Amino acid sequence: MAKVVCVLYDDPVGGYPTSYARDDVPQPKIYPDGQTLPTPQAIDFKPGALLGSVSGELGLRKFLESNGHQLVVTSSKDGEDSVLDRELPDAEIVISQPFWPAYMTAERIARAKKLKLIVTAGIGSDHTDLQAAIENNITVAEVTYCNSNAVAEHVVLSILALVRNFIPSHNIILQGGWNIADAVSRSYDLEAMQVGTVAAGRIGLRVLRLLKPFGVGLHYLDRHRLPRAVEEELDLTYHDNLESLVKISDVVTLNCPLHPETEHMINEKTLNFFKRGSYLVNTARGKLVDRDALVGALESGQLAGYAGDVWFPQPPAKDHPWRTAPHHALTPHISGTSLSAQTRYAAGVREILESYFEKRPIRNEYLVVQGGKLAGVGAHSYSEGDATGGSEEAARFEKA
Ligand code: NAD
Repeated sequence: MAKVVCVLYDDPVGGYPTSYARDDVPQPKIYPDGQTLPTPQAIDFKPGALLGSVSGELGLRKFLESNGHQLVVTSSKDGEDSVLDRELPDAEIVISQPFWPAYMTAERIARAKKLKLIVTAGIGSDHTDLQAAIENNITVAEVTYCNSNAVAEHVVLSILALVRNFIPSHNIILQGGWNIADAVSRSYDLEAMQVGTVAAGRIGLRVLRLLKPFGVGLHYLDRHRLPRAVEEELDLTYHDNLESLVKISDVVTLNCPLHPETEHMINEKTLNFFKRGSYLVNTARGKLVDRDALVGALESGQLAGYAGDVWFPQPPAKDHPWRTAPHHALTPHISGTSLSAQTRYAAGVREILESYFEKRPIRNEYLVVQGGKLAGVGAHSYSEGDATGGSEEAARFEKA
């Protein structure tokens, strides 16, 4: 019997939904590179239900309990009295979502003597100290591709919101106003701008493809160069360093994982390479960007706007300076947890658990760490070492 601890975000303030805005949740048949959607033997949830909050339980309870396992579901993850800390010593599996991350620090991993598997219900496993997982022979897996296209949609939405000054214009309407000059004095067309993505993996490449019809110039930086045919099809310009990419871009979007190479890649020095008045969109990870340097760049006008949905830590403090910075279109961490995406990643978690319990290999593309080293998507997209610095503090103190 395994004890499974599942950390999920809180239910809606008004209670768990009893009905939904739509009756169905259309899904793609296959991902763009030919990877299949999750293939669990069965699911015990209705596609389109809210699965990522505590009462949704990722649809796992029936499956786990009927196989004799114990499931603990909680949103209590930070602070010394957290349910997560209480349940960790005899947990075999920990599941959490990047939206409400269980910071699996080296300290926590050291106390979890029975821990064998950490599953990210989503994509991006930086909230786990991957170096500690490597050293303690713990497998880390995520549901690769489950929400990559969902995030790409949010990136395009965010770029348009910033460039066209959508949110301030909408607010004018909410406030009963109609001053068109106020709305348009920061409004531009995206057409003819240069857009650069840091990383052209599943999300970054999708963003490039979605933006192509807008008539923009497209640029990318990645440690793996795309096939020549793709570069030609999208008329891409490849850059081998950040300075070269941001110098030419009117819009920069970050789409790489957080690992030691990428932590704080956007800082006071690199922000000075940006064109004055450019826009930055980050749906990748909060810690790619230096918190205070970003606020300075928005206040000085070096950046004309910032958008995205990722913060550090999560949840951020009520007085986190990004909340009140000028010209931002930030949201809570939502882009990868639409109801459509939840259906896919809940099924993906079930697939990973079925493989684990039946001692079958977990799909290689889902693996981040296995057998004491980076594996699968981890070997392709991450680097060894710890990018969770500061998470110890986040895990110890409840800030919300
Ligand atoms: P992916 O593995 O397909 O792509 C990652 C790309 O980053 C790879 O092409 C890799 O080569 C590149 N990369 C890694 N290190 C780099 C570096 N130092 N410089 C340049 N490129 C580098 O993953 P994906 O599905 O595209 O997701 C990317 C990241 O987006 C995730 O790791 C996660 O942090 C974030 N994400 C956020 C959400 C959300 O809800 N906001 C959801 C999914 C993923």
